Amino acid sequence: MSAAPALLPQQNRRFLAEWLVVVASLLFLAGFVGYSLHQEHEEIARRERERLTTQARVIHDNLGRQLDAINRALTNIRDELPYWNAQADGMAQATRRLGAFAEAMPGVRTLAILDAAGTVRASNQPRIVGGNFREREYFRTPLQRPDASMLYVSPPFRTSLDTWIINIVKVVPGPDGAFAGIVSASLDPNEFAILLNSVRYAEDMRVGLNHGDGKVFMTAPPREDLAGISLDAPGSFYRRHVDSGREENLFVGAMRSTGEARMAALRSIQPAGLRMDKPLMVAISRDLGAIHARWRHEAQIRLGLLGLFVMVGLPGLYFAQRNQRRAEREAATAAAELRANRERLAVAADAAGIGVWELDLASNRLIWDEWMHRLYGIPPASFGGQLADWSERVHPDDLPRITHELERAFAADGVLDSEFRIVRTDGAVRHLKVYAQARFAADGRPERVTGVNYDITEEVRDAETLTRLNAQLMEQSELLRAQAFIDGLTGVANRRRFDAAIEAEWRGCRRDGAPLALLMIDIDYFKRYNDRYGHQAGDECLKTVADLFRARLNRSHDLVARYGGEEFACVMPDCDTAGALAKAEELRVAVENLNLPHEDSSAARMVTISIGVAARVPDDATSPEDLIAAADAALYAAKNAGRNRVAG
Ligand code: GH3
Ligand code: MG
Ligand code: MG
Repeated sequence: MSAAPALLPQQNRRFLAEWLVVVASLLFLAGFVGYSLHQEHEEIARRERERLTTQARVIHDNLGRQLDAINRALTNIRDELPYWNAQADGMAQATRRLGAFAEAMPGVRTLAILDAAGTVRASNQPRIVGGNFREREYFRTPLQRPDASMLYVSPPFRTSLDTWIINIVKVVPGPDGAFAGIVSASLDPNEFAILLNSVRYAEDMRVGLNHGDGKVFMTAPPREDLAGISLDAPGSFYRRHVDSGREENLFVGAMRSTGEARMAALRSIQPAGLRMDKPLMVAISRDLGAIHARWRHEAQIRLGLLGLFVMVGLPGLYFAQRNQRRAEREAATAAAELRANRERLAVAADAAGIGVWELDLASNRLIWDEWMHRLYGIPPASFGGQLADWSERVHPDDLPRITHELERAFAADGVLDSEFRIVRTDGAVRHLKVYAQARFAADGRPERVTGVNYDITEEVRDAETLTRLNAQLMEQSELLRAQAFIDGLTGVANRRRFDAAIEAEWRGCRRDGAPLALLMIDIDYFKRYNDRYGHQAGDECLKTVADLFRARLNRSHDLVARYGGEEFACVMPDCDTAGALAKAEELRVAVENLNLPHEDSSAARMVTISIGVAARVPDDATSPEDLIAAADAALYAAKNAGRNRVAG
């Protein structure tokens, strides 16, 4: 928990850096977008200026050539005029000639010769011959300032046919040098419309042909409201062009005449070899909005994208940082908790003397903590850290087993819970408890095993001692228990055992419906034996006879018991009277054959026995006591009959 606040200053620095980077990137992007848009805007304007200027020159060159041709034609006509004047049909000739010229020059609609009074003397248009035009500007100007070398360009004027016309005029000098009339050519607006239209490459483009004093002659596309108006106003493109004194100009801004925002190329048309009183002027313009329409569209997209970046980027960074801050805070808390847990675990492991180890199965590398070294009694410096270094320490008797268990644990659930012994360098054997768990890779193969060891030597030793003590105790108690049922002198069953056995066998045989036999055996004249050979010899005799009985009654369920004094009893389940009599006789003969000397016996010269036999299938009416009484009675009978015999 304590680590969480420590992280914050560093985190804040990083977050601030991220903000700086993002804001700087956005500013750079904005700068780049702005700069590139500006550049493109300039480039488009530059290209447009070039194109407009070029188109203006096209008109200029074309019109220049036409003016030149008109000038030559008018000069020609003027030169021939004296000749026609001298001829009777001179005007007829002139008319034909004018017709031929007009034919040759498509830009010229009307050619006319006017006399000094302004009356048309000859024309290719017969209907105006005889008409008087002395009030017209194109007549009045040369009349007032006659100059034979001048090419007069009239302001546009509206004809009787309601079309706008410009007349190109030359003065006809008389013989005395006085004003003798004019030759005039009128420009055909239809023909010029074709020319002007030919240079238009955009819908919004307007081409205007103006007179040098600022009056509009014609426009393409045609604009009735513009024809004939004067462009001469302070600040107008026309004014600025004239004031500049230059042949061509390019202006951008609001047009005086229409108020539209346009880019216009203006060019004066005044061919070098001609003296014109007023130039013609061509104005080619485009709508600024239209020129930059595509650029504006592009700019909207880019600025829109930029805006999107800003709108997405800044909140995006804000939320990303907020999430990251939260995640890092949680991670720091988790790490602190983990650390605290580890410390607690380490304290517990240390206190408990638990060694922790880890085995990397790929490399067989074994990592031990300090307690492992203490348990194995190996200083860290002398431990190689390989599985083999561990195997060396394991008690040879335990190594195959524990190795096998380890391998089996990897193959199964990965858990090993076992014990083994190690031999320390000083030879001390220690018992270790091991608990280990394998960690498996994604493909199911064990990767690493982590385990703990602790010393259980003392416990094992305590347990061993306990086991040994227990065994001794068991042995002793068994002995005590046995002793309670065994006759101390002869080692056969004692009277207590006999009483219990005969009861049990009686019940067993009654259940099975089998006969139960009982032999009552008594050594003959044993009092005398004692008297003769001593009590100790008597004891020896008792042991010898008892050993014989035990040896001869070898069925597992037969029982030999010392009934009392020198009297023995044999309990024989599943044995009928005949079998019992046979067994009794066998015993009697066997004792006789021992040939134990008994000088004072009245029955024989050796130790002999008398046996009373009784056998019966137990039933409800009788009891073990009856059987004992019967056997006793038989023994009594055998004694009375002279001893060393069997009676049934
Ligand atoms: P009988 O032929 O009628 O059986 O004569 P007996 O002398 O054997 O009969 P009795 O019952 O009068 O004598 C039994 C003798 O057995 C008495 C006793 O001195 C002897 N005796 C009993 N128990 C022991 C013993 O544990 N050791 C020795 N040495 N003698 C014993
Ligand atoms: Mg006796
Ligand atoms: Mg006796």
